[in-house]
Amino acid sequence: MAGGAARELETILDAAVDPFIACGPDERILHVNAATERLLGWDREQLLGRPVTDLFPPRLHHFHGLSLPRYLLSRRKALGGRPTRVFARRRDGVELQVEVTVGATGPDGHERIVFTLRRLHEVIDSLEEPVEHVAGSPGVAVHQETADRLYRLLVENAPLGIFHFDLTPVVTACNERFCDLIGTSKRNLVGLNLLTLRDERIKACVRESLAGRPCDYEGDYRALTTGKVTPVRVRFAPCYAEDGTVEGGVGIVEDITERRRVEAEREENLARLDLLVRSAPVGIGFLDTDLRYVRVNETLARINGLPAEAHLGHTLPELLGEPGAIAERGPRAVLRTGEPQVDQETLSDTDLGAPGPRRWFRSNIYPVRTPDGRVLGLGVLIEDITERRRAEEERARLYREAQEAIRVRDDFLSIASHELKTPLTPLSLRLATLERRLERGENLDPGVLRHARHQLTRLTGLINDLLDASRIEAGRLALHPESTRFDLLVEHTLAGMEGQKGNHTFEFEHPREPISVHGDTFRLEQVVSNLLENALKYSPDGGTIRVRLSLTDDVAVLSVTDPGIGIPEDQQQQLFDRYFRARNASTRSYGGLGLGLYISRDIVERHGGRIWVESVPGRGSTFYVALPTLASVQPALPQVWPDRHLH
Ligand code: ADP
Repeated sequence: MAGGAARELETILDAAVDPFIACGPDERILHVNAATERLLGWDREQLLGRPVTDLFPPRLHHFHGLSLPRYLLSRRKALGGRPTRVFARRRDGVELQVEVTVGATGPDGHERIVFTLRRLHEVIDSLEEPVEHVAGSPGVAVHQETADRLYRLLVENAPLGIFHFDLTPVVTACNERFCDLIGTSKRNLVGLNLLTLRDERIKACVRESLAGRPCDYEGDYRALTTGKVTPVRVRFAPCYAEDGTVEGGVGIVEDITERRRVEAEREENLARLDLLVRSAPVGIGFLDTDLRYVRVNETLARINGLPAEAHLGHTLPELLGEPGAIAERGPRAVLRTGEPQVDQETLSDTDLGAPGPRRWFRSNIYPVRTPDGRVLGLGVLIEDITERRRAEEERARLYREAQEAIRVRDDFLSIASHELKTPLTPLSLRLATLERRLERGENLDPGVLRHARHQLTRLTGLINDLLDASRIEAGRLALHPESTRFDLLVEHTLAGMEGQKGNHTFEFEHPREPISVHGDTFRLEQVVSNLLENALKYSPDGGTIRVRLSLTDDVAVLSVTDPGIGIPEDQQQQLFDRYFRARNASTRSYGGLGLGLYISRDIVERHGGRIWVESVPGRGSTFYVALPTLASVQPALPQVWPDRHLH
């Protein structure tokens, strides 16, 4: 070839997109174009004269006893112009998957062998071109080629690793995804005999698929190079030839790291949810549409008084009998209407199996639906609110008591001011009369003085009662106990009342023998005179007041009976409370602060005794005081601070 023509040819070939290599019959390179230089990384000067097989990995140098070029030439007819996929080797040793087409000029021994290479991804890129533009081949061949490319595209772009093996069973092809998953290159995978693997389960799957049966493998794959462990799932399936016989198998490999992670996360979430439900302080249950328990937590089991497992598969009536049938009405209604029952508060009708008093429950029952609205069953939330209800009731009681205390205080203040004021008006009048008489030099009337003194005594008594009541409240009412003749004390008190008894008559009965107690004379006198004053105050003028002292089993019992207004039965218990005045003792008719009996009870009880009343409204009352005598065990009287009393 003339130099000019050769150069021109060279320029044309350099302009071609695909790599092109020509060699002589000795298979040494005679020519490469610029695309080859670019693809394989060699300068053409370095390549000229080298065996063409240097451009391929050593394992491809010989095939079926032929050199690679000769082998490819021998397959030319069979391939009908279609390329063969092989690996080419770049100058840096990296292997590239290429499609190679081989042609020859002239007879054997003189020919030029011509290689056209196409890097695989370039083949894929060229698919973007319209079919008519695909170089060269018209008609069916174009479609066939396109179909093959599409097929490759499909396989290469699949998000799953795919490999094919033949009957031997050697891996014949695989996609990049598979290489990524396994962490090795195609070079290592293609040609690998699967029976050389160590994992028996994989080998079993390979055999199964070659026997025509699909088989699944799941396991952790450890990459030989990096040691990285990847959980994989491989679906092995047989591949059939056109005649229907198994020609090999295919493995579809899925990286299940994410799936495993999601599964583990879901399991962990479920476990957490389970724990949450199980240990919730609220009873949680799930009933199916036959109202049978599918699930109960510990709290609900405790409320029902049965172990959690005993509930499963049973209805409420089966578990709890009649009370269960009553309790089932709620869920039944929710199932019928599809409407939830919210915050229903009920008192357990009878004990629901759990021992103890009746309890309050708050329940929420609601239909549990699938996203498409189908009712799967019922959710039941039950809370034991007994303590809360009790606290509420207690609060309400305290509130009522506080209101009552406020009312009593207000009543007391108005009564006390009235009571304290009452003696003051006559006292001031009498003192004014005395003053006038003194000014006029007239004789003083002892009656006026007596009356003035009486009002003063009444005032003093009221103030003393107030002081005593506050001392009792503070626990500071002092007692000075000594051996005291109780019979004489009563007699003495009666005598002291002569001035105020008006037209009343006192009758005093007592045993002959003396009765001695260990007590505070002043305070015991206070008790007796309080009872006598009340008897006078609350009975009609002229009535007889019977005072009786008796001795039974070392206990002295004093009773004061009057024919007075009596005390309504429902109020007899409260007479001894502070400020209490019976409703038939109106302030207008009967003065008083409601403190006398309160003080008396404290004094009597602190002497180890007891005070009580028997009364018939409208007929009269008898007040009793029982005190241990000296002959009995001496009561230990508490020591308190001495106080000052207004006399
Ligand atoms: P008061 O100063 O109001 O009499 P007391 O503590 O001595 O206070 O008595 C409390 C209440 O008991 C009286 O207000 C009265 O309603 C009733 N009471 C006490 N003694 C008698 C009695 N002998 N007959 C009828 N009611 C009585």
